[in-house]
Amino acid sequence: MTKGTPSMGKKSGKKNFIRCRRCGKATYHIRKKKCASCGFGNSSKLRKYSWQKK
Ligand SMILES: [Zn+2]
Repeated sequence: MTKGTPSMGKKSGKKNFIRCRRCGKATYHIRKKKCASCGFGNSSKLRKYSWQKK
């Protein structure tokens, strides 16, 4: 078992995230109907946390 980027290859089959309309990243969750990156579908504001580093 390996950790890190190579293990991403095991992520196959079910697709939960599609490209977000607002931030352009593939972090829009289809079932939750919100973006994990910018919060699109969750709130009108951008998802942002104080602990986030720019
Ligand atoms: Zn987004």
